[in-house]
Amino acid sequence: MIIAIDGPAGAGKGTVARGIALHYNLAHLETGLLYRALASKVLENNVDLDDIDKIAALASTISLDDLKNKHLRSEEIGNLASKVAALPEVRQALLDFQHKFANTPQPGFNGVVLDGRDIGTLVCPQADIKFYITAELEVRAQRRLKELQERGIKSIHTAIIQNMMDRDLRDKSRQQAPLQVAKDAYVIDSSHLSPDDVLKQSITVIERHLKK
Ligand code: C5P
Repeated sequence: MIIAIDGPAGAGKGTVARGIALHYNLAHLETGLLYRALASKVLENNVDLDDIDKIAALASTISLDDLKNKHLRSEEIGNLASKVAALPEVRQALLDFQHKFANTPQPGFNGVVLDGRDIGTLVCPQADIKFYITAELEVRAQRRLKELQERGIKSIHTAIIQNMMDRDLRDKSRQQAPLQVAKDAYVIDSSHLSPDDVLKQSITVIERHLKK
């Protein structure tokens, strides 16, 4: 079973992906971490954003181990991730990684669930079930603020909103693999739903599909 989940930052796609993975015993790949891990390497190595060859070379070195880095979830890394994610050379290198993950049986699991921006449209267009999880900007910003607060990081509401708007715009307007709703995706607006409600709705959709 392949499940694809897409949506903008803070919509709750990671949480629902983790819930689905647990419920159906699926291997989960949070593909945003690939772009974040690359952004972190770009920072670490002081690579100029114009040095596309160097960035693409770094992209091809990303491994599952790199995704364990605890510092990947900062706003700075998220922002830089969306900049390097717009480079076609980077997307190609990371596409190979994602294809391998999705198309190789993961020992001990019943399938895979991938979440990101272009999973249903490009990485796994053949996915059995596709979800697009969205939420109003203000709700997504509040969630991000709470998450940062819980991690002890002080942040400013207006800065978070601006950051999200910039990232949404970049992710939706880039030439390669822009964030968009796959034709056959099941759309969930999580603005007024609890994470549990989103998970329940998704499981209902999956169950309906499995009975077919
Ligand atoms: O999902 P997350 O917010 O961690 O992703 C960080 C950035 O990585 C996104 O803003 C987006 O630019 C990029 N990304 C992408 N394609 C994916 C997953 C993430 O372009 N499949």
